[in-house]
Amino acid sequence: MSSQRVLVTGGAGFIGSHLADLFLDRGYEVLVMDNLLTGRLENIEHLFGREGFTFHKQDVTNHIHISGPLDAILHFASPASPYDYLEYPIQTLKVGSLGTHKALGLAKEKGAKFLLASTSEVYGDPLVHPQPESYWGNVNPIGVRGVYDEAKRFAEALTMAYHRSHGVCTRIVRIFNTYGPRMRLDDGRALPNFMCQALRNDPLTVFGDGSQTRSFCYVADLVEGIFQLLQSEEVSPVNIGNPTEMSILEFARTVIEKTGSQSELVHRDLPSDDPKVRQPDIARAREILGWEPKVSLAEGLELTLPYFRDELARHDSDLSPAR
Ligand code: UDP
Repeated sequence: MSSQRVLVTGGAGFIGSHLADLFLDRGYEVLVMDNLLTGRLENIEHLFGREGFTFHKQDVTNHIHISGPLDAILHFASPASPYDYLEYPIQTLKVGSLGTHKALGLAKEKGAKFLLASTSEVYGDPLVHPQPESYWGNVNPIGVRGVYDEAKRFAEALTMAYHRSHGVCTRIVRIFNTYGPRMRLDDGRALPNFMCQALRNDPLTVFGDGSQTRSFCYVADLVEGIFQLLQSEEVSPVNIGNPTEMSILEFARTVIEKTGSQSELVHRDLPSDDPKVRQPDIARAREILGWEPKVSLAEGLELTLPYFRDELARHDSDLSPAR
């Protein structure tokens, strides 16, 4: 049993809570910090009472204090869906800037490793495809997505500055589209929207003509990659995602097929600055970490479907069972 202690900021969120599970399962002590703005206690309620787990309801943009030693800080606090960061633009900027500053300060004080959850959004609407880590991106700083993209770009810059100036041991993961159980039904992302719409036999809302592409990674693959990155010596950013790319139209049709739904498709306006293509180049993750995703989209959707069925049944008494 390792006695290492890790702090997961944003640990009541979708990815943060899966990280908390993984570290606890591997014998770590896990402290979750979350202000529950977009995170949910439901995501971690199964951990209350488990040995080695503690929860701290706190906003990481304020000074944070943790007593005792810390071996690693995984900084995952942030609204993370386009819908959420449009709803909370200032909180998104604050947690990416002030929150990252506080979390890095704590890492420095404790001599802890620091891992930043960055994002494929640092590449903006990319002009290089697929996106390698060496690409600097094409971001509109004053657009509606700029609050997230620029906050994360600033967070990367600050992380590197703490590494270079203070010798903090840092890691940066650039996370591409990820899905799985514990996504909020109403987080506005393509997968929760399509799943809920399909299970209710409502039309699936495809934004624009649906020709824009994304590459979807199952959450278990993602957290394994993050765990391996933390153990590695790699300071430069590493993309973690699934390189299987498809159009959003194709994705919507796949969800309809998997759920056995009668739903049709409807088109809605494309949100501004919506990236036209996205696919991670994971050559570095393969080479440095020996990591690559193992779960296909078909398998991942199978694993995710029961969660959405149960959540919808709880929230929607009118749910008509799909097949
Ligand atoms: N999208 C869609 N219908 C929806 C929600 C999203 O067509 O109901 C599109 C969205 O415009 C984007 C893609 O699906 O092109 C992925 O969107 P998401 O919000 O999941 O994340 P993003 O990759 O844009 O950060």
